[in-house]
Amino acid sequence: MGLKFFSRLWATHPVSASLVRLAAMNTVAALALAAPSAWAQSTDLSACMAELRPAARTAKVTDTTWARHTVGLQADFSVIEKLNFQPEFRTAIWDYLSALVDDERVADGAARLKEQRAALARAEQRFGVDAATVVAVWGVESNFGQTFGKYPLVQALGTLSCHGRRQSYFRGEFFAALRILQAGHIAPERLVGSWAGAFGHTQFMPSTFERLAVDFDGDGRADLMDSSVDALGSTANFLARAGWQTGLPWGIEVRLPSGMSVAGEGRRSKRPVTDWTARGVRRTDGTALPDSLGAAGLLTLAGAKGPAFLVTRNFDALYSYNAAESYGLAIAHLSDRLRGAGPFTTPWPTDDPGLSRAERRELQGLLVMRGHDIGPVDGMLGNQSRVAIRTEQQRLGHEADGRGGQKILKALRGG
Ligand code: CA
Repeated sequence: MGLKFFSRLWATHPVSASLVRLAAMNTVAALALAAPSAWAQSTDLSACMAELRPAARTAKVTDTTWARHTVGLQADFSVIEKLNFQPEFRTAIWDYLSALVDDERVADGAARLKEQRAALARAEQRFGVDAATVVAVWGVESNFGQTFGKYPLVQALGTLSCHGRRQSYFRGEFFAALRILQAGHIAPERLVGSWAGAFGHTQFMPSTFERLAVDFDGDGRADLMDSSVDALGSTANFLARAGWQTGLPWGIEVRLPSGMSVAGEGRRSKRPVTDWTARGVRRTDGTALPDSLGAAGLLTLAGAKGPAFLVTRNFDALYSYNAAESYGLAIAHLSDRLRGAGPFTTPWPTDDPGLSRAERRELQGLLVMRGHDIGPVDGMLGNQSRVAIRTEQQRLGHEADGRGGQKILKALRGG
């Protein structure tokens, strides 16, 4: 699911996408990158569709389905811009996590744990994945079903099948999307999602849907758009098939002995817990590591001075959902918070920590009060917010990077 990574980090997920976009982007530069070649092309896809028809037939897309969904299909070149978009720099892990795992999402997740108790208990019984983990995936993927992406999937995948890099990959997803419609799992007008084709409560790609989606509410359709019960069951199934081991923790935050090198360590370099104990690694409260971890790798996403984690094969299962360690850690941490744990013990190595969504909205409100036009106060620090932040940073003599962190928030609170 290589492209799922793109879909998540760079376009679909409104929170992470906006984070990356805002940190990365200079909208003007990004548009200039993709626009001229894309916009020079015709939006007519009929010739390409005619070319794809034999392959679609081999892929079990019927003539009726094909005609219904591809006749008159127009390209949307904005998805090619997304495909080609190169962020200028990456969002810091503390910015990424502070919006994805904030008090609001923990509270929302706790409410969903209650509401969906019955379905989650059934999912745990059938697939062996606990409720907090499944709900954490739901929260990170779609903010518990509140943000699905806005691209009509057939159009987005049709465009990507005919233009841009990776057309053969997207053709497989295009045909899968058509087969999902053909099977009647989801109504055509409901099938919208990310520019790259991930959709629904837990943002499955169409081919992933075909492999792993389950009808968990028993109405005969696996509907990841409109049935949260189907989505929760499907997520538990995904993790089970990714090797989730029932009862094994994803990992724990640990304290490293001073001077310990983390070079060469990582999620994949798993060693028995006894080895880590022998090297002086302890729980953050200084007590001994739990034997229950079995074999674990040492994960440090901000160097040896930041929070450090011993992670098990269950972390690998979370990782496989989106092929990004920061993403895996967001789910892992949210699941811990839903079990009642607090924030990480070790602070991130920065003097300007990230903002929760509530703090982002507060910052935007302060920018508006100072006369900046930043668009809607939505907690997503987009390009307009960045420009305004940069202006205020210049005025205050801060480093003018346009990033919204605690420093600028505190300065503006003070007037
Ligand atoms: Ca169903």
